[in-house]
Amino acid sequence: MIGKALVVTAMTVTFFKSYQLESTTATTVEVNPDFPGLQRYLEKFANLGDPENTDNTLQKLTIAELQGRAHDHVLKSGKFLCYAKITTMHDYRGWFYANCTVPNCLNKVLPEEDTFVCADHVMKEAPTFMYYLNTVITDDTGSIEASFFNDSLTHLIGYTCNQMMIEKKNRNPKEIPPVIKSLTGIQLLLTVNIKPNGSLGVDSAQKTSTITPTTPDSKTNTSTRNQPESIGKNKKQKTGEAKARKLLQHA
Ligand SMILES: [Zn+2]
Repeated sequence: MIGKALVVTAMTVTFFKSYQLESTTATTVEVNPDFPGLQRYLEKFANLGDPENTDNTLQKLTIAELQGRAHDHVLKSGKFLCYAKITTMHDYRGWFYANCTVPNCLNKVLPEEDTFVCADHVMKEAPTFMYYLNTVITDDTGSIEASFFNDSLTHLIGYTCNQMMIEKKNRNPKEIPPVIKSLTGIQLLLTVNIKPNGSLGVDSAQKTSTITPTTPDSKTNTSTRNQPESIGKNKKQKTGEAKARKLLQHA
């Protein structure tokens, strides 16, 4: 045996943005069942590897545990995994940065209409812009400030910061593009780096849910209580999603 198999029966495949598994009243769960071909399935799934660039050997921590680490002078540095949602994006602190392309000039660059300028130079060619977004991330245990670095946002959005600024024409440093804003409230698996000063950086991130919140804006937290009809449905979808995730983790 090369791994453990979790077999979940009688799931329905539904389509909402992408394919997902949903449990039914007949769903049963069995670990390492004895059936012909099990070994072949185990090998097939083992070869799929991790679809994202997440290091699944890292320890998983809750936000409360991350807060404890960040304030612990002995333990605080290190990389961890955390399931959390972005609940706030700090617009006023900008969402990208780039350094001047003139050698030895370390000034920050801002885009103007047709050029890119630092405090001392004007550039015709775009420098390499990087995403850098200050957020608050939240789970059931609490909330904490975290900065999303270039790789994590590039992966979540699907294109680079230069594409965002030049092709998609989002050039205002104080106005977070809608495609970034829409990441608010989505369940993410984050690789969080606690730096020696206790601040948190998100090195990589992936979406863990195929379910988009019904109201993907800041009203989400307050509106669900007034929609009793949708609660049962959401709960069912989440259960199915959790089971599907377990299936993938154990395969
Ligand atoms: Zn410069």
